[in-house]
Amino acid sequence: MAAYALTDLDSDAFSLAQNESFWPPSPAALAALADGHTAHALYPDPDWTALRAAIAGVHGLPPDHLLCGSGSMELLGAVIRAFSGPGDTVLASDYSYAYVATACRHAGSERLSVPEPDYRVDVDALLDAVRDTTRIVFVANPGNPTGTHVPPRELIRLRSALPDHVLLVVDEAYGEFAPADGGVLWPLIERGDTVVTRSFSKAYALAGARVGWCALHASLAAEVRKLLNPNNVSRASQRAAAAAIQDANHLETVVAATRAARTQLCDGVRALGLAAPESHTNFVLVPFADAQTCTRADTTLRSCGVQARSLGGYGLSHCLRITVADPPTISTVLSAIEDSLS
Ligand SMILES: *Cc1c(COP(=O)(O)O)cnc(C)c1O
Repeated sequence: MAAYALTDLDSDAFSLAQNESFWPPSPAALAALADGHTAHALYPDPDWTALRAAIAGVHGLPPDHLLCGSGSMELLGAVIRAFSGPGDTVLASDYSYAYVATACRHAGSERLSVPEPDYRVDVDALLDAVRDTTRIVFVANPGNPTGTHVPPRELIRLRSALPDHVLLVVDEAYGEFAPADGGVLWPLIERGDTVVTRSFSKAYALAGARVGWCALHASLAAEVRKLLNPNNVSRASQRAAAAAIQDANHLETVVAATRAARTQLCDGVRALGLAAPESHTNFVLVPFADAQTCTRADTTLRSCGVQARSLGGYGLSHCLRITVADPPTISTVLSAIEDSLS
């Protein structure tokens, strides 16, 4: 399968800054998007019927426990607004997804975070930080920008120890790249105290189509749905996503290509003496000795036509996050970093 050259429209640089897929979507999804003639003239199905049925079939979940959104960001925002407000806190860890803080500002709630030693979510630190005001505990698994993975049994331990008034939200935007967990979190959905979000933007290569979904008990879904735009996912996007999730072979190919390229990138940066944590995503977090060395690497990468993501906003000004690309692009990345270090 040929990789994409992910150049952005306004520049010639490879964008390795947003974790978009370097590999194309399923041909069936592309066909659905190309067949947009009537699809674009008509309002979409507000109940996402075919898409929900496809997700339900693949994941073994009842369709009434699923909602679809204009990307999983819409769903995360709606969940945070539905279940937290002024005076409430949402607990996350220091390097968890930045959008949660934005969603909390919209909701009027406050995001608090606990340290992530070695770039890993610390379940005990989260549990220690729970207060009466805590309404939501948020974990991205695998994490962004860290790429690290919390074993599902740790999440089950977290959920079991959390008080009933706290909702656990697990963001699995990179779930397709993580070890298969056989749906061990689905019984938590059934209990009504846990929400899992997923995205078509990463492994399915449909970031621009804006489709995400979440699994949550039907009683919670009813509350969240009140906050969604009824026509939130276009007809073409619903069809493309349904086609994509049913093309298991294509997903497997993308995940395997991503894993091989990620190993090349991760081994390459480690060989340069940079202690990249083990990633279970389509990107690698690259920690440099200090912020200055990191900026020098970023500048060299840009001069070689590669945009990486700097992470000062996370308090990680010594790190770059680099999306996995095809082997020739990774070789360019590795020599640019090497040059910047010498
Ligand atoms: C990319 C990403 C998302 C997905 O966003 P979409 O709205 O589905 O495109 C959600 N969470 C994390 C941690 C991400 O990195």
